[in-house]
Amino acid sequence: MKSIGKAELFRRLPSVDEIVRTPAVGELTAVSGSAAVTDAARGVLGRMRDEIASGLLDEQALDLALSGIPSAIEQQLRRTLGYSLRGVINATGVILHTNLGRAPLAVTAIEHIRNASAGYSNLEFELEAGERGKRDVHVERLFRKLLSEDDTVAGTGGLRPAGTAEAAVATRADVSTITVNNNAAAVLLALNSLAESGEVVVSRGELVEIGGSFRIPDVMTKSGAILCEVGTTNRTRVADYERAINERTRLLLRVHRSNFEITGFTEQASIEELVELARRRGLPLMEDLGSGALVNLQAFGISGEPSVLDRLRTGVDVVTYSGDKLLGGPQAGLISGRRELVSRMRSNSLFRALRVDKLTYAALEATLLAYVKRDHDAIPTLRMMRRTKEEIGQRAQAIARQVSGSKWNVELIDGESVIGGGAAPSSVLPTRLLSLRCEGLGADEVATRLRASDPPVIPRVEDGRVLLDLRTVFPAQDEMIAAVLHRISA
Ligand SMILES: *Cc1c(COP(=O)(O)O)cnc(C)c1O
Repeated sequence: MKSIGKAELFRRLPSVDEIVRTPAVGELTAVSGSAAVTDAARGVLGRMRDEIASGLLDEQALDLALSGIPSAIEQQLRRTLGYSLRGVINATGVILHTNLGRAPLAVTAIEHIRNASAGYSNLEFELEAGERGKRDVHVERLFRKLLSEDDTVAGTGGLRPAGTAEAAVATRADVSTITVNNNAAAVLLALNSLAESGEVVVSRGELVEIGGSFRIPDVMTKSGAILCEVGTTNRTRVADYERAINERTRLLLRVHRSNFEITGFTEQASIEELVELARRRGLPLMEDLGSGALVNLQAFGISGEPSVLDRLRTGVDVVTYSGDKLLGGPQAGLISGRRELVSRMRSNSLFRALRVDKLTYAALEATLLAYVKRDHDAIPTLRMMRRTKEEIGQRAQAIARQVSGSKWNVELIDGESVIGGGAAPSSVLPTRLLSLRCEGLGADEVATRLRASDPPVIPRVEDGRVLLDLRTVFPAQDEMIAAVLHRISA
C-alpha cells in the first residue's frame, strides 16, 4: 500500500462549517450555542493539523480521529464551559481543610445567601425609618448575644467558670464586633488602627507564618506599626514584655500558635499575666486567636482552643479570628473587643477597603443564628467533630460491603481525624478509616483516579496506602463514593 503524503492528509480534514453542520455536532450547538461550538471545532481541527504536521497522525489514525471529532468537541466544551471551581468529596478527615475551602456552610446559610442576594436586600437600609443603615447591624446583634456572659444563650454549658453578674453587664455593653474579608485583614486593620507609627510588643515565639504567606512581621510592616520582638523562640516571660514597653509602645500582641507547638524547655507568659501588665501600663492587649471558637469546644472533644468569650472575659481587649475556621461560617475576619477600640477600626478608611459583601453577611448571620438557637448540628463542621468513631465505622463498613467481590481489597483500620485550619494543632479525633487497595493499581494511581472521578474524591495517602476518612464526608455522599470505586475497578 502506497502511503500518502501530509498534503493529502491535510486535504482530508473537513472545514469548520462542515463539522458544525453534522447532526452530532448540531446537538452540541443546541445545548452550548454556536459560538462555543465553532470555537471548540477550531481547537480540535488545529490540534489535528499539528498532529499531522508532526507525523503523529498517519492515514489510519486520521480516519479514527475524523470519526471522533464530535466527541473531541464535546470534551473540549466540557473543559471550557464547565466550572473550574467544583464541589469535591473531602475524604481526608481534615475538617477545616484550607485547600478544600475550609468550612462547608450550613443549609440555612445557603438559603439565606440565596434570599439576600438573588434580589435586593436591606443590606444598608433601615426598613422602619426608611433611611440609610449600616451593613454591620445584621450580625452585630447576634455577636452581642453570643459574646455576652449570659450562658443561657452563649454556649454548650460549662462556659462560665468565674463570671459575676457585674462582669456580665460590663461585657455585654462594652463588646463590639466588626467583620472584614478574612482574619489576615482583621489583624492588618486592628494593627493599623491601634498602633500605626507606634510599637507593638510580641513574643519571638509567636512570630508565626500561616499558610498562604500570612506572616506576622510582614503584616505588621504593612500596617505601619513597628514590631518589637521580645523573649526567645522557646521562652518568653511577662518581664520581657514589661522591659520592652516605652513611650512609643501602643499595643501588646499575643498570637495563637495555631499550626505548631513548641515543646520541651518552654515558657510563655500566661494571658492573665499579660492582661495584668496591659492594665497596669495603660496599654491595650490584642490577641490574634486565629480560629476563635464561639462555644466551649471541650464538649466536642477538642482542647487547647480558647473561645472568644473566654478571652474577652479574661480581659483581652481585642480578639481577631476567622469566620471559616472553628466558627464554621463563610470566609471572614472578625474583630471583637472593647467598643471604643473597635470604633477606631470602624472609622478607619481601611475598613471600607476590607469590607465584606451581602453574601458573607447572609452566611454569617445564618451561622450565628444557629449558635444562638444552640442548633450546633446545623453547622457542618461542628456536626463532623461530634461524629463518633462507631458511627463512622458503620458507614465505612457499608461501603466496604458494597464494593466487596470486586477488584478492591478493603480493610477497616483505626486512625485519627484532624481539625485543621490552624486550629488545635495537637487535637485529633479517633476515627475508622477505609484502607483501599485495588488489584493492578498502585496507591498513587488509585488516588489519581479518585481525584479524576466525578465528583472528585480526595483521599489521604499514607505509607503507600489510600485511606478514606468518612468523618468529613456527608452521609449522602457515601453512595457516590461506592459508585466511584465501582467505576474505577470496572
Ligand atoms: C488562620 C490564621 C490567620 C489567618 O486567617 P485567615 O482568615 O485565613 O486570613 C491569622 N492568624 C492566625 C493565628 C491564624 O490561625
